[in-house]
Amino acid sequence: MSDAETPAPLAVQARGLSKRYEEGRIVALDQLDLDVRTGEFVAICGPSGCGKTTLLNLIAAIDRPDTGRLTVAGRSLADLRGVQVDRFRSAVVGLVFQLHNLLPSLSILENVQVPMLASNHRRGSNVERARHLLDRVGLLDRAAARPPVLSGGERQRVAIARALANDPQILLADEPTGALDSKSGDRLLELLGEVREASRTTLIVVTHDPHIADRAERVVEMLDGRVVN
Ligand code: ADP
Ligand code: MG
Repeated sequence: MSDAETPAPLAVQARGLSKRYEEGRIVALDQLDLDVRTGEFVAICGPSGCGKTTLLNLIAAIDRPDTGRLTVAGRSLADLRGVQVDRFRSAVVGLVFQLHNLLPSLSILENVQVPMLASNHRRGSNVERARHLLDRVGLLDRAAARPPVLSGGERQRVAIARALANDPQILLADEPTGALDSKSGDRLLELLGEVREASRTTLIVVTHDPHIADRAERVVEMLDGRVVN
């Protein structure tokens, strides 16, 4: 086999992931298996309630599965303890949510620096890095603005800049265009694509949006807590 045919290492390997809520009455994930290659752009689609957000939360180590194995960027998440979980989260994954979750009383320049406070970046360079990231998403001229005065699309661009603060290996986005009109949504997607190309980031986007699915290299369909395609 030539080098070109050697598969890239996996960004995510999930085996038999299950997660229940409400003392087991609600099955959010049901023996889910998923592989995502490093650098891949995957769209995860499926009806509301099928477990998409739960899956992203497990990959980001925000929550833990009841059963199953999950390896992300070469780390077995079940083996991480205490501060290692925080370190994993700030060093490996970047998160973009449907609602941007920006802090309204901080400028967007300050918002982008928030994840840097938990990492090893030196304080002095944080401002420069945040300026660079705002420039990448086309908002450097608004650096002093606070989120409430920006449009929905602009706020999501700030959320992307913030997600990139610690140069993550994996970018996870949960319905990032869900609250945007289609034009702003398209622009946001273009930006995500550019970011991925430039940083060689693995991109996993949960979406109802057929445009995103079109742009992705692969669409993973979920139903009732499992992958169905
Ligand atoms: P999706 O993102 O695909 O809409 P979710 O992963 O949010 O689906 O939810 C999967 C199922 O788990 C749904 O039935 C949801 O109501 C339930 N669920 C998710 N989080 C919780 C929670 N913290 N407590 C109870 N039920 C939950
Ligand atoms: Mg969801």
